[in-house]
Amino acid sequence: MFALDVQQLTKVYRGGFQALKGVDLQVQEGDFFALLGPNGAGKSTFIGIVSSLVNKTSGRVSVFGRDLDRDPEGVKSCIGLVPQEFNFNLFLPVIEVVLNQAGYYGIPRAVAKDRAERYLRQLDLWDRRDTEMRRLSGGMKRRLMIARALVHEPRLLILDEPTAGVDIEIRRSMWSFLRELNAQGTTIILTTHYLEEAESLCRNIAIIDGGEIAERTSLAILLNRL
Ligand code: ADP
Ligand code: ADP
Repeated sequence: MFALDVQQLTKVYRGGFQALKGVDLQVQEGDFFALLGPNGAGKSTFIGIVSSLVNKTSGRVSVFGRDLDRDPEGVKSCIGLVPQEFNFNLFLPVIEVVLNQAGYYGIPRAVAKDRAERYLRQLDLWDRRDTEMRRLSGGMKRRLMIARALVHEPRLLILDEPTAGVDIEIRRSMWSFLRELNAQGTTIILTTHYLEEAESLCRNIAIIDGGEIAERTSLAILLNRL
C-alpha cells in the first residue's frame, strides 16, 4: 500500500493562477521522501491539499488507502503536518500547544500528557514547557510544531521546509530526530529547497517546478549523475 497516492492533481487559485498542473506522485509506506523545488514551485500547495488545508481543483489523493474526498477524517487521522508558518496560539505555553492539539483529536488527557512529555523531551523542549510560544526562538518553534504534529501518532509526517532559517547545530539535531522517527516506522515527506537536506535525510525525491513533477528518482541515482 502507498502512504500517499496522488493522481492528476491540479490547483487553480481564485484569480486563475494554476499552481499545480496534473501532479502524479506515489510515496511508499516507510519512505523518507523529499519534495524539492524552487520557491513558487507548488510545494506548499501540494502538501496543503494533502493535509486538507487547501481545496484541490481536480485529481485524486489517497493516504494509506483512504480517499481524501470519501474519507477526509480518515485521511486527517493518518497525517501530522508541520507547517512553515505558525501565527496561532502565540500566548500559549509550550505544553498547552501540544495538549490542545491532542484535545482536537480526542486523545484522553492522561495519554496526551505522557506523549507531550515524551516528545518535548526528545525535542529538547521539556525545560521550556511553561514558556509562551511567542518567547521561543525560530528553531524551538519548529521543534514544538513537530511535537504538536506527532501527538496523535500519525503514520505519515509531512513537514514544510522544516529547517529553513534554523542554525546548523539545531538543524542537525532535528535531522537525527527525524531519522530515528522514520526508523521506527513513520513515513516522512518533507519539502525543501536545500539539496543538502534531501541528501542527508531522504531515500527518494521528486523535483517539482512550475506546478509539475520534473523528476522522480532515488537520491542515490540523482547524486550519481551530478
Ligand atoms: P482556496 O481556493 O484554497 O480557498 P484562495 O484562492 O481562497 O484559496 O486563497 C486563500 C488566500 O490566500 C486568499 O485570501 C488569497 O488572497 C491569498 N493569496 C492570494 N495570492 C496569494 C499568493 N500568491 N500567495 C499566498 N497567498 C495568496
Ligand atoms: P512553494 O511552496 O513551492 O514555494 P506555493 O505552493 O507556495 O509554492 O506557491 C505556488 C504558486 O502559487 C506561487 O506562484 C504562489 O504565488 C501561488 N499561490 C500560493 N498560494 C496562493 C493563493 N492562496 N492564491 C493565489 N496564488 C497562490
